[in-house]
Amino acid sequence: MRPEELLCPSPKGLYSPAGDFYVDPTRPVARAVITHGHSDHARRGHGKVLATRETLSIMALRYGADFAGETQAIAYGESVDVNGVRITAHPAGHVLGSAQMALDWRGLTIVASGDYKDAHDPTCAPFVPVRCHVFISEATFGLPVFRHPDASHETAKLMKSVALFPERAHVLGAYSLGKAQRMMALIRQAGHSAPLYVHGALTAISAYYEQAGVPLGEVRHVKGVKKADLAGAIIIAPPSAITDIWTRNFPDPVTAFASGWMRVRARARQRGIELPLVVSDHADWDGLMASVTATGCEELWVTHGAEDALVHWAGTRGLRAKPLHMVGYTEEDEAAEGEAVAEAEAGPDAAPQDGAS
Ligand SMILES: [Zn+2]
Repeated sequence: MRPEELLCPSPKGLYSPAGDFYVDPTRPVARAVITHGHSDHARRGHGKVLATRETLSIMALRYGADFAGETQAIAYGESVDVNGVRITAHPAGHVLGSAQMALDWRGLTIVASGDYKDAHDPTCAPFVPVRCHVFISEATFGLPVFRHPDASHETAKLMKSVALFPERAHVLGAYSLGKAQRMMALIRQAGHSAPLYVHGALTAISAYYEQAGVPLGEVRHVKGVKKADLAGAIIIAPPSAITDIWTRNFPDPVTAFASGWMRVRARARQRGIELPLVVSDHADWDGLMASVTATGCEELWVTHGAEDALVHWAGTRGLRAKPLHMVGYTEEDEAAEGEAVAEAEAGPDAAPQDGAS
């Protein structure tokens, strides 16, 4: 039996011939299994969607309640049978509700991890390695140059700058789903108890995190707040908003950006970021190697990102490994995030009008 009978790449995403469903399909399909709520993995318009309750809620927030014909929730550790394939959800540690989907069929186990990280994150359940024959991994940061420092260490840089420049506002760019809320939680852990201000694209998702039991402290929409009241404040916004006209109404803003890409200094410079913070929701090079090893897999499939280095490394470890060259999953989650932001901005909180006045 070939693993490809259970799961194989297709133009619409990973397809299960045995179970007749797709995992994170990039186009509308009859039956989809969704790993997490980021817009490159969770799209609208499928017939049936199986995902965690949190992922389903996030999709409803982003796309409206009618994002799919039918939905079914799966909890961590729970199994659901789809046409004879047993699907079990396990925490991926990526964002709230993110799940690795383990597919069992005729004694074969394939784990589709979606996006994942093994680093600590106070806003979601930690990544759990799942024993399997075939592990499917992303490789967004699949190069030895990518080693993410401790997130609390990066957050301390922000807190130091806030203390140093109490008359200035700090505008922190962070992807609206996951990163923004993780930064809020980290800022709270660092002892900052003042209200955090957010761009309109972040209000609903942040409120959902609170409702789901992730405490973020007081989070206020920045719209309408007087400029003088934002001295010393931290304002969190989607990456696309932090360098545009939107920040003009804040007092002498310091621009910060929390992303794994901030490890590349040229990127920070290009974007005019004064305070780059290397905080990522993806596994770094060490994390990828450790996570793949912990699954005990015999075979590694790499969906997207810097596939070649990880495939090469796996070969040196005696694993069969291949790149899947999946399209539709962005190497930079920025592009996917850009879509979500564009959607949010099309609403009443359109960015240019969203500034403090
Ligand atoms: Zn993601």
